[in-house]
Amino acid sequence: MEKQLAFYFDASACTGCKACAIACKDRSDLPVGINWRKVYQYEGGGWVSHPENKDLLIPSNLFVYSVSTACMHCEKPICMEVCPATAITKREDGVVLIDNTKCIGCRYCEWACPYGAVQFNEEKGYMTKCDFCQDLQAKGQKPVCVDACVMRVLDVGELDELRAKYGNVSAIEPLPTSDLTEPAVVITPHKHAQTSGSGTGHILSVEES
Ligand code: SF4
Ligand code: SF4
Ligand code: SF4
Repeated sequence: MEKQLAFYFDASACTGCKACAIACKDRSDLPVGINWRKVYQYEGGGWVSHPENKDLLIPSNLFVYSVSTACMHCEKPICMEVCPATAITKREDGVVLIDNTKCIGCRYCEWACPYGAVQFNEEKGYMTKCDFCQDLQAKGQKPVCVDACVMRVLDVGELDELRAKYGNVSAIEPLPTSDLTEPAVVITPHKHAQTSGSGTGHILSVEES
């Protein structure tokens, strides 16, 4: 593979506004129930009694932050490995794509992907997911989620270049640990970011339609 395109996400400044997810849904005219980009709000901690005044409640390890996520175009795409119809491929630039003319709708990839990135279109009878706005990127433009972000916390680029610039964090809660699929993403963690798999909080936001 010549290169690996990747997402960059700065969780330290994401407001959770979901403009990225709406732009994605609009660009690809996605039906109700299918969201190629999702924004999770992750929260934890609680309130405890003051040690000197039991009637007074004080915060204890309270945190909340947002994580915008889509298909990670993984370096080890398990969705591709489990597909019995060879409908999923990884291009030379690292982009993982589904050929819907080959998809037989078995949904193995949906069960395998730890990011919930692949989503079945009941009406069309095939699996769908983020295509990295490949049509726009071929014209030298950015994906619509990137352009829609008012906080400028999303971007795309070469994985190695993004790592050199921002570090090599690729997982924070509530995303899974990166060892299974090696996601092509670089994350600047929120100051309260929890370690992937720690289970110290829970997802607050409800599923959008
Ligand atoms: S995020 Fe899921 S669908 Fe996307 S490449 Fe990785 S395993 Fe496949
Ligand atoms: S790159 Fe395009 S298809 Fe993928 S999440 Fe962003 S807007 Fe959606
Ligand atoms: S548009 Fe930007 S700030 Fe808003 S939720 Fe998406 S990534 Fe976060």
